[in-house]
Amino acid sequence: MSIDVQHITKRFGDFVALDDVSVTIPSGGLTALLGPSGGGKSTLLRVIAGLESADAGSVHIEGTDATRLAPQKRNVGFVFQHYAVFKHLTVARNVAFGLEVRKVPRAQVRQKVHELLELVHLSQFADRMPSQLSGGQRQRMALARALAVEPSVLLLDEPFGALDAKVRKELRDWLRRLHDEVHVTTVFVTHDQEEALEVADEIVVVNGGRVEQVGTPDELYDAPANDFVMGFLGEVT
Ligand code: ADP
Ligand code: MG
Repeated sequence: MSIDVQHITKRFGDFVALDDVSVTIPSGGLTALLGPSGGGKSTLLRVIAGLESADAGSVHIEGTDATRLAPQKRNVGFVFQHYAVFKHLTVARNVAFGLEVRKVPRAQVRQKVHELLELVHLSQFADRMPSQLSGGQRQRMALARALAVEPSVLLLDEPFGALDAKVRKELRDWLRRLHDEVHVTTVFVTHDQEEALEVADEIVVVNGGRVEQVGTPDELYDAPANDFVMGFLGEVT
């Protein structure tokens, strides 16, 4: 089982954002899509999520052909860089949202929200408004909300990008711990080499609309596939 992307091409007008991309992301892992700005990372993630439709190619998610499925039918959870929170709903109601729209019985929703808020250590903030949370706490809330519907895949686009360095590091560890607890297949986008190298089990290096290399952090370091990968990883300070 995996996320299997085959021969995906995505154009915006004449511009080729993804150029015949094929990559297989194993189940149960924590995988980074790493590369410089404009390389096509977000587009690839959005094609996997079904938020962009590709011009060619296929996406299989855990054995199901998702290529033509609507995003809400793909069983994916999504976390964005800029918190997509409902400002007028409490933290608990934000986390409950996906369950409520699916008409999950109330008692079950309450139990699930309770568990998730414990998981991200926000239990004491259940009745607060999102505006009363710090940036890092808000992203933890977003993680809990994405996990609420028990997605088979969790997709995060620069989830820590808007936060300051210290909180970034904290949340990075959070994502790792959360993943090790929940084991959901997780893919996150980052342009930060250190973030990918420290957190991910596997790294997909995306540049110029192509996949340059797929490998563990050690594999990338020990045997960079080409000058681009060597140079890009060499920029780590
Ligand atoms: P990354 O996430 O790696 O920074 P993106 O996937 O966001 O890169 O973008 C890849 C390229 O596609 C960029 O050159 C970007 O300007 C272009 N692009 C992305 N989305 C659109 C869009 N909706 N319309 C036109 N161009 C786009
Ligand atoms: Mg991006």
